[in-house]
Amino acid sequence: MWINPKLCVGCANCIPFCPVGAIAVGPSGVAVIDRDACVECANCYRSMSRENLPPWLVRTLRKAAQLLRLRPDPDLDICPTGAITPEPLEWPRVVRSLFSDPTSEHKVTGVAGRGTEEAKTNDVTGRTKEGEAGFTVELGRPGVGVTFAEIEDVTASLANLGISFEPKNPVTSLMEDPKTGRIRKDILQERILSAIVEFTVPLEQVPEVLRTVEEVSTRLQTVVSIGVYTRNARDGSNPLLGILHQLGYRPQRAKVNMGLGRPLAEGR
Ligand code: SF4
Ligand code: SF4
Repeated sequence: MWINPKLCVGCANCIPFCPVGAIAVGPSGVAVIDRDACVECANCYRSMSRENLPPWLVRTLRKAAQLLRLRPDPDLDICPTGAITPEPLEWPRVVRSLFSDPTSEHKVTGVAGRGTEEAKTNDVTGRTKEGEAGFTVELGRPGVGVTFAEIEDVTASLANLGISFEPKNPVTSLMEDPKTGRIRKDILQERILSAIVEFTVPLEQVPEVLRTVEEVSTRLQTVVSIGVYTRNARDGSNPLLGILHQLGYRPQRAKVNMGLGRPLAEGR
């Protein structure tokens, strides 16, 4: 994203729309975007209307209001001059948009946003079977963001445990080799809003996975959220809850998938 300095009048309306604080009004009186911090989510462009007024007119009106000590109550979701300008994004910068703009669709999965349906459709996809635990490790959140170098720290550590990453996942598709968890070198410095790493392990491996993610997260400059799920046993009991209690967690059943799609997954 780019702010056209010839159009911007420095009203600062766009600043609150940036989830990572990448926009600031500089000493020259116009807003600038920190290109390293910007995750190309397009929220500043998508969420604001554009009035496309001539900058000289807006500046004159603002000056006149200041002189008269008027404090007009402007609409805060308007860029009065239409200065916010989307740029064509080349590789590797385009991955920022793919992982941060909820309207972008990941080609590898065909899913918008972070490109995965996670556990929500497990009764149809049958990714995680009885006796297994499915993990979603989410790195980054609005306000923090994450680089692919940090994501690689997690994926390489998990790969050392012999984990197989979910193939229909955008992070896996960007690995040089899913067996090592190493991510393409040309995107390591790219910053995105968040990404989800997914994999399934036998229930016995849950403790070492959690230990590993906790250990790596202490050296990351971002937020790590772990989701873990399993299929209930035939008698309705949940074997994962006991394991988590033993490890000192206080798990909450966040989502229960009723299995209405199960006929489609039979035989998987
Ligand atoms: S809303 Fe538009 S004119 Fe105002 S500071 Fe942002 S880019 Fe500049
Ligand atoms: S594209 Fe997103 S991250 Fe970049 S300046 Fe706009 S709101 Fe901020």
